[in-house]
Amino acid sequence: MDCIFCKIASGEFNSWKVCEDEHALAFLDINPVAEYHTIVVPKKHYANIFDIPADELARVMATVKRVVDLYGDKLGLNNCQIIHNAGAEAQQEVFHFHIHIIPRAHGDDNNITWKTHPEFRDKFAELMGRIRPQ
Ligand code: AMP
Ligand code: ZN
Repeated sequence: MDCIFCKIASGEFNSWKVCEDEHALAFLDINPVAEYHTIVVPKKHYANIFDIPADELARVMATVKRVVDLYGDKLGLNNCQIIHNAGAEAQQEVFHFHIHIIPRAHGDDNNITWKTHPEFRDKFAELMGRIRPQ
């Protein structure tokens, strides 16, 4: 399979490796939106959250925590956003599961804005009805 993150995980492609273990790898994003913008991937290929088994996800998240703690200890980082894009409609571009660690700071101009829909509150009963066991 022609997957760029598989190639990084196997060592076929170079990356700025932050840390790794048997299951997961953290490396700097090649197109960073902040200093230390980091990508964490499982070494095995899964497309996204819909595809990855829970135990593999837990291992990736353990590496996310390790990286955040490293940046906290070494850099004094205490603000960041942890982002996973799953699916093209959710702005996923590389279809190998990955978590973004994005350090944040005052004045970094990276403000994410969400469009809120208070009117959806009127539909909560109907929405919940659709996911309750029959
Ligand atoms: P997305 O799939 O939208 O969540 O984001 C994919 C991310 O992977 C982008 O932020 C890219 O800059 C990053 N990326 C793509 N190719 C590489 C690479 N060779 N090394 C490091 N990061 C990469
Ligand atoms: Zn892959």
